[in-house]
Amino acid sequence: MLRHRFAELRGPDVPAKALDARALAALAANPGCRRRALLDGAGVDKAALANALGSPSAFGQSQFAFMRGNAFEARVKADGGAELLRLAHERLDPGAEPPTRAQVPDLSAAGPQGRVARTALALREATEASGTDGAGGWTLLDHPMLALEVAGSPAFLEPDAVVVHPDGSWTVVEIKSFPMLDGAADPAKVGAAARQAAVYVLALEEVAARLAREGVPPRVRHRVLLVCPKDFSNLPTASAVDVRRQRAVTARQLSRLTRVEEIADALPEGTCFSPELPVEELTAAVEAVPATYAPECLSACDLAFHCRARAREGGAVTALGRPVRAELGGLSSVEGVLAAARGEAGDPDDPAVAALRRAAALRAEALDTARARTLPAPSAGPEVALCH
Ligand code: SF4
Repeated sequence: MLRHRFAELRGPDVPAKALDARALAALAANPGCRRRALLDGAGVDKAALANALGSPSAFGQSQFAFMRGNAFEARVKADGGAELLRLAHERLDPGAEPPTRAQVPDLSAAGPQGRVARTALALREATEASGTDGAGGWTLLDHPMLALEVAGSPAFLEPDAVVVHPDGSWTVVEIKSFPMLDGAADPAKVGAAARQAAVYVLALEEVAARLAREGVPPRVRHRVLLVCPKDFSNLPTASAVDVRRQRAVTARQLSRLTRVEEIADALPEGTCFSPELPVEELTAAVEAVPATYAPECLSACDLAFHCRARAREGGAVTALGRPVRAELGGLSSVEGVLAAARGEAGDPDDPAVAALRRAAALRAEALDTARARTLPAPSAGPEVALCH
């Protein structure tokens, strides 16, 4: 039933766009957006939709950046992942035996389902071989394939690597080409990497739960290994990133996705997001689903330019960012905020309204003072002249 409804929303003969880790991670970047939840849940291709709306997304990596990223990853994983495992040992598990002997199982198989099954088998074998007394060796799974159930359909996910520690625990590895300068990287980029890694952690937890039912209880670590180039060199360095918060937010969002049927039910009859439709019809369909635009959308969602333009047109305070939005309480439009500040609207007992009026009074006072200081000194009038 739900699948049928989603197919209607995508349009005739429009295939569902499979969700990848980036799309799932973006759910955690703007958890309150019903528009995104519905479009992702229904498998709508948001990049194609943004194009059809006349606001193409600005995502995509340059060919040069892509090649540089691939070359860096190959370097990190050279020699059977010796450097990567050394970093995992140093940053995450210094008490374990050093990774002098490591297994790198072959994970090739036909199709995504075949690769998912092969990955699960390799994880099981590595965990069984390790035991939980820390006496086992290290195993590196290079580009394993994981599956996560999203709104009734599997999303196939491919982390850069998963490491099985000697105690049988599992760590997600993210290899990025942005630099780590003096041990720290750009917080926004680290945040995006953490959200993506949290999706892989959730998918690994599903594998772990299945193995636990079969008597092989592994532990999925919630600190992932982020590997980046050191300073401006090509040498890898790494840091452990705690993804518990991102994991919790993404898990909550994914559970909400199963309720996208409620959002779909609230839409007008015949709503469709097919990119083949005339732009007016498509715009009306998109506007029929409530959105909560925030500047964070610009780095996470294909529809960001469309939603930003609409938010600005409507004077929505969400376009100013979440912190400002949170301070303004029930005031949702810039016009409403200005009216409240001028004393023309709003409940004076509302703390946001009271704060705005205080701020407006302080601003007016400051402007008056500034004006008084910049006024030329009054010229001496007749009375002054007489006194002299
Ligand atoms: S860009 Fe639009 S659809 Fe995407 S998350 Fe932001 S508000 Fe929602």
